[in-house]
Amino acid sequence: MSESDPATRNGASPLRAVRGMNDILPPDSARWEWFEDAVRRVMCRYGYRNVRTPVVEPTALFVRGLGEVTDIVEKEMYSFVDSMNGDALTLRPENTAGVVRAAIEHNLLHDGGKRLYYIGPMFRHERPQRGRYRQFHQVGVEALGHPGPEIDAEVILMARSLWRELGLGDVRLELNSLGQLDERRAHREALIAHFEAHRDHLDADALRRLHTNPLRILDTKNPAMSSVVDSAPCLADYLGAASRSHLESVCGALEAAGQGYTINPRLVRGMDYYNLTVFEWVTDKLGAQGTLCGGGRYDPLVQMLGGKPAPGIGWGMGIERVLDLVAELGLGPQPAPPDVYCILPDGAAAPVAISVAESLRSQGLSVVMHAASAEGQGSMKSQFRRADASGARYAVVFGAQELAQGCVSVKPLRDDQATQTTHRIADLAQWAVGLRAA
Ligand code: ATP
Ligand code: MG
Repeated sequence: MSESDPATRNGASPLRAVRGMNDILPPDSARWEWFEDAVRRVMCRYGYRNVRTPVVEPTALFVRGLGEVTDIVEKEMYSFVDSMNGDALTLRPENTAGVVRAAIEHNLLHDGGKRLYYIGPMFRHERPQRGRYRQFHQVGVEALGHPGPEIDAEVILMARSLWRELGLGDVRLELNSLGQLDERRAHREALIAHFEAHRDHLDADALRRLHTNPLRILDTKNPAMSSVVDSAPCLADYLGAASRSHLESVCGALEAAGQGYTINPRLVRGMDYYNLTVFEWVTDKLGAQGTLCGGGRYDPLVQMLGGKPAPGIGWGMGIERVLDLVAELGLGPQPAPPDVYCILPDGAAAPVAISVAESLRSQGLSVVMHAASAEGQGSMKSQFRRADASGARYAVVFGAQELAQGCVSVKPLRDDQATQTTHRIADLAQWAVGLRAA
């Protein structure tokens, strides 16, 4: 908005962020950085490497990749036409399709499988509520090119490593198998027959999906449908030997690693591209939005998006939900106050103070320089108040008298017993070394 905009000139109502899209501000942003550091440590431990794909993708990528009869494609996508060239574009609602597109486009699988991860914003037009936003963030992993159940166990256990890294104790693992397409077809017939027989119990969403995607009815969040869903034919009864043995191997590997799980036959996941293993990590502490992480195998996807057939498996984790749980449990990073706050009774000391602060920073100290406000430099008293509020361990005072002798005073702010001392500026680097070692 420009200065000449009448709304700004007249002090009219300020602009606000888009509904369901949040600003992440200090001090909360520290928790985000702490989380992202933990993610990078875990990814590094498992040999997963970072990918960053565009936030905007061709709409067709999601229509093809996710399936037309999914919540996301039916009603949640931010899609628009590029007014410059008429291209149909979409703000990514998830990142698996984008990562697979990039892997195909850059022929990443030419020399074997790839283990990848991403962190970033996703966009879905949903009703905003706790744990559900229109811009939200996910970290996710994708292991491409590996068909075996051991990689399913690996990605599941990576999420466990992250819970441990964050100090989160009781996140529950739920597992299921979606088998293969032909197995789902036989189940689908039985499912349609069951739901047809109980038509009057179905809500509008379910009726609409009855013949297009009946499996998704099992995924309903409508409690009024729980009895008709609970009595529905179970996909597990339609799985062939290979699918069953894949699931058993995943379970065996998890047991060997000491990871408990429950098999949840209603766990079907939102996207059509999943096959075999599907899983969710769930907490009971966040109310309705308790799924922290969901994922599964998507062996058909690479080929569906035009690549040479290659299997894949991955998960996506909702960062807002994880951090909500972290806050709920009183976990999170230790505060990281600066080491030093520089106090300048007179603004004329700025050049010296800046150069001293730079040299302390180059020793690895965190140094905050007092900055004048619109009202001016501020009294010593108000500067000390700010120094105190910053949490700094020391105030370094650049008073005119000391400076004339080539000195500054150093006042400990966190120790009532310690007294103020005077240091030659030339000796401060040595003082900083001592401070870091302490
Ligand atoms: P839900 O059933 O809660 O809508 P989903 O099946 O649509 O979840 P996925 O597409 O599997 O979710 O995304 C993986 C994770 O991303 C979810 O488990 C959740 O933690 C998070 N997530 C999904 N949608 C949102 C959203 N709108 N706001 C915040 N987090 C979200
Ligand atoms: Mg959803």
